[in-house]
Amino acid sequence: MQVAVVTVGDELLSGDTTNTNATWLCRELTERGVSVERVTTVPDKVGDIARVVNEYHAEYDAVVVTGGLGPTHDDVTMDAVAAAFGRSLEQHEEAAAWLEEHGGYSAADLVEGTTHLPAGARMLPNEPGVAPGAVIGSVYVLPGVPGEMKAMFELVADDFAGEKTHVAFVHTSEPESSLIERFERLQSEFDVTVGSYPGDHVRVKLAGAEETTVEAAAAWLTERVELYEQE
Ligand code: ATP
Ligand code: MG
Repeated sequence: MQVAVVTVGDELLSGDTTNTNATWLCRELTERGVSVERVTTVPDKVGDIARVVNEYHAEYDAVVVTGGLGPTHDDVTMDAVAAAFGRSLEQHEEAAAWLEEHGGYSAADLVEGTTHLPAGARMLPNEPGVAPGAVIGSVYVLPGVPGEMKAMFELVADDFAGEKTHVAFVHTSEPESSLIERFERLQSEFDVTVGSYPGDHVRVKLAGAEETTVEAAAAWLTERVELYEQE
């Protein structure tokens, strides 16, 4: 399963907010065996959001969109997703009923537009917050507040599944440039992908569908590199 993640918010692009939602979603999806193919951050603009949602909906098995759900003027994600599907935003009776029952909000208490969702969307309740999320086709629209986003993702997490990948890490103190030949041999002898992440030392990530193959590749490499001793 191939998925794209779209994070919405001017504050992400200006650097005022760190995009922890993207990292969290990528990790969760990857752990479920899903391949995350894109992470795109767009401003709070209807046209920009609608364009990427439309493109990614056509390209990938699912799209996860977070941020910009509230009813304030700068929150336009629902308008944009509705536009991407050529639908209108409508009062969602189930969303209104849920908020009245669980949140104790009558329609009059809520800011106009809080319970408006794209026509025909499935409502996702926002247990820790207010603004509901939505599922339209294979597009999942979640809030931006990290706690709310995580809680809502859990409601739909089972929709995201793929072939589980097995992973092993080897830490080496050798420079990355000296490892190239061993990486090539590793890839030709074992059915694994090799990722190399330099920092204060090089972390080598081996991933593959078969656990025994990944373990064998890790053992092969462990015997052939200078291991980095963690303090
Ligand atoms: P609400 O439903 O409460 O109105 P919302 O869906 O409209 O929330 P935003 O208005 O976009 O969400 O953002 C709410 C808060 O969550 C802000 O403090 C914002 O900085 C933070 N936030 C938004 N997107 C992200 C993200 N990708 N990573 C981390 N924090 C985020
Ligand atoms: Mg916002």
